[in-house]
Amino acid sequence: MKILYVTDLHGDEKKYNKVLEIAIEENFDAIINGGDMLPKDDVFFYEQNKFINGFLTTYFNELKQANIQYYCMLGNDDMGIVDRIFNVVVAKYTNIHIINHEPAILSGSKIQIFGINLVKDYPFRLKDRCRLDSSNDVPNAHQIGTPLMSTGTDLGDFIKFKVIQDYNDYLKRKPTIECALEGLPQVDKEVISILVTHQPPAHLGLDVCRNKDKVGSDAVYRYIAQAQPSLSLHGHIHESYFTSGFYANKINNTVCIQPGQDFSHLTYVDIEINGKDIKHKWRNIKI
Ligand SMILES: [Zn+2]
Repeated sequence: MKILYVTDLHGDEKKYNKVLEIAIEENFDAIINGGDMLPKDDVFFYEQNKFINGFLTTYFNELKQANIQYYCMLGNDDMGIVDRIFNVVVAKYTNIHIINHEPAILSGSKIQIFGINLVKDYPFRLKDRCRLDSSNDVPNAHQIGTPLMSTGTDLGDFIKFKVIQDYNDYLKRKPTIECALEGLPQVDKEVISILVTHQPPAHLGLDVCRNKDKVGSDAVYRYIAQAQPSLSLHGHIHESYFTSGFYANKINNTVCIQPGQDFSHLTYVDIEINGKDIKHKWRNIKI
């Protein structure tokens, strides 16, 4: 089973197209996208719904024609208000699967795949998917501006932002990342299992920001150590590999991967699973 793992494409059409081209040329069975799928620059931020109905719909058709299975979820920069429209579009395709809280079996295999797209609180304003790591965590001390959540009419025809009045209270009322992980299905030790969390775990060099801050999740780390999936895939911190030099590490027998994402290059990881054997290679390709 050949899997192409990519994350944090942020609506970059050239990168999406290159991924498809590589998957076809190199006979990948499946693509996994770890989140932050939609455009986020100032103008396009408000048009994430149009990107889903436009480019992504065409892309999903191309994947279908190429007979490639696609496992994906939205991320923290993809507004919560577009979840519904994303679900509606994805439901039209039998080869596109949302893995956020929705476990799946990788087509043609016994490989179990599941994930969550929540992230630890950070300084950035869009808080739709921000949560406390565990019950003794606190909101990030540094905040760039007033915390916001996305809002708008049904199906996201008109996207706006709404100020979160009492952010501490908002976070306290939401289930923590630890809690969300506990709600995932039991890892089946008899088969290969893949956990995808947009938020990287702490302590592995997969969470290092440009200023060397480490922003990984202890809850994700503990969950992996206890549940022991065969493979865990992450994203979120684009520059981590370029800062720490690590795109992969291990927690006991679990292989943990966070490829990051480059600016002018497409960054991804080539994964080959043969029985219980997992091989992986970091790739960074000029586009
Ligand atoms: Zn992210």
